[in-house]
Amino acid sequence: MTADTLSLFSLNKQVAIVTGASRGIGAAIANGLLTAGAVVIGIARSDTPSDELSDDVDYRRCDVLDDNEFEGLCQFVFKKYGVISVLINCAGISMPLVEEKTKNRDNFRQTLEVNLVSVYNCCVAVQSYMKESGGGAIINITSINSIIGFPGNPGYVAAKGGARLLTKALALDLIADNIRVNAIAPGYIQTDMTKKSYGDSDLYNQRLKHMIIPRWGKPEDLVGAAVFLSSSASSYMTGQDIVVDGGWTAKGLIQEQN
Ligand code: NDP
Repeated sequence: MTADTLSLFSLNKQVAIVTGASRGIGAAIANGLLTAGAVVIGIARSDTPSDELSDDVDYRRCDVLDDNEFEGLCQFVFKKYGVISVLINCAGISMPLVEEKTKNRDNFRQTLEVNLVSVYNCCVAVQSYMKESGGGAIINITSINSIIGFPGNPGYVAAKGGARLLTKALALDLIADNIRVNAIAPGYIQTDMTKKSYGDSDLYNQRLKHMIIPRWGKPEDLVGAAVFLSSSASSYMTGQDIVVDGGWTAKGLIQEQN
């Protein structure tokens, strides 16, 4: 690859905010953007992040459910670094229903608040700063649940499906400010969120059968797509999904042996 081609993926002089950066996928993406040259501000509710997050990420405590707190964070970042060019909406929760498969309205609302409403709020909050910065890239971390249904977690599926189409709606609305909005849809990735299923060998193998690439995903598997969508390498892309799922959504018949 020539230096010119490589520079397409460089995030030099970019300033990125990554929500949900205290661990898991958010931490891996924050570290990845950093190595691509960006200044990275990682946020989550924990006072201190796990050791998965690089010390070079500027970690700040911030709850994405608190609009004022996130607005204040954007103000702080813009004042300190002079630009906000990338927002990765990665903060998320999953509250699978154990006994009743469908009937927990609080659970449904809470999941929508974190996984969908806060995504909208963060996009809205960052818009004016990105506009002043000359434009930017927003990436919403959705899920394969944004495309296909899964049992026992209707709030999660609805929120991720909503976030997928919110991505397309905002791609239209924000292009006037030169802001691109895309989504990354992960498959099954080994993080705290999925530890119940990857820690159980039956569930682990049941899920593995859906994957064409014969392994569960790791948080670092999301870094390539995140750097691509944050950088000028994807400058003609907006409103799109990149599915990083080991082939889960491409697989039809599940056979014991392929
Ligand atoms: P984790 O549970 O490991 O991490 C979730 C992150 O979100 C943590 O950093 C958590 O930090 C943060 N968070 C949760 N609520 C809030 C909040 N209100 N404000 C700020 N931060 C918050 O999950 P993953 O890394 O697995 O998931 C990351 C994203 O990827 C989520 O959106 C998830 O839905 C999505 N995803 C994950 C998949 C997987 O297989 N793991 C598959 C598909 C999508 P803290 O607790 O410190 O606030």
